[in-house]
Amino acid sequence: MERCIASLPLKKTNAKRNVKMPTIRIGHEVLPIELKINKRARRIILKVDAVARVVKVTSPGKSYQKEALAFVQERKIWIAERLLEGPELHPFVPGAVIPVNGVKHMIAHLPGKRIGVRVQPAAGRNPAVITVGGDEAFVARKVTDWLRQQAREKLTSETDAYCKALGKRRRKVSVRDSRTRWGSCSSDGSLCYSWRLILAPPSVLSYVAAHEVSHLIHLDHSPKFWAVVDSIFENRKAAERWLKTKGSSLYGYGAGDRA
Ligand SMILES: [Zn+2]
Repeated sequence: MERCIASLPLKKTNAKRNVKMPTIRIGHEVLPIELKINKRARRIILKVDAVARVVKVTSPGKSYQKEALAFVQERKIWIAERLLEGPELHPFVPGAVIPVNGVKHMIAHLPGKRIGVRVQPAAGRNPAVITVGGDEAFVARKVTDWLRQQAREKLTSETDAYCKALGKRRRKVSVRDSRTRWGSCSSDGSLCYSWRLILAPPSVLSYVAAHEVSHLIHLDHSPKFWAVVDSIFENRKAAERWLKTKGSSLYGYGAGDRA
């Protein structure tokens, strides 16, 4: 979901080299700014990736960075409008309800308590609760760290189950916040996943693990590869459909807390 608006005629400035353009605040959200250089660019080009929540600005060289940064600041309203095209935001704040491994969890904050993160399972009509202690400013960070940990554990156990089913050995399993793919498998047998899969239905997380583990046999998307996936995972079409139609919603979680 990238849009291009800008076209600012170039005017070379004597900007210092390596001018940093790390972030821009739009409303409550702090977005990273990615500065790209394309020597063939004839204008400064501004793009907003509303899904990944990143502002990208391309200029022909480092000497245009100051001008490019000023252009980003000038276009704040346009950037805010583009961001509305992205996923609905669900910041990790007290009172928010988030799905964790298919179960709704409410975030609660207990100031003054040095408890880190404590999780109470659902009981009767009461939802599961993630209680975070300490300063409210760190609630989002602590919830994110806890979710990453949950994702790592769940994805590791799913990966191991599928490795066992296929009789394959794996190397490292890691989780990241990749904005381009849900999982990857390298030729050395290491697997990497998006931690956000813990916010998806469990069958979707499981499918991504089955898919990546199948790459330990075929590092391509050939019919042979799909036959391996289908031998260990039922109804991959439904999981693929979910990722295609709802997957980008996962990028809205916690957004706005990233600084
Ligand atoms: Zn694949």
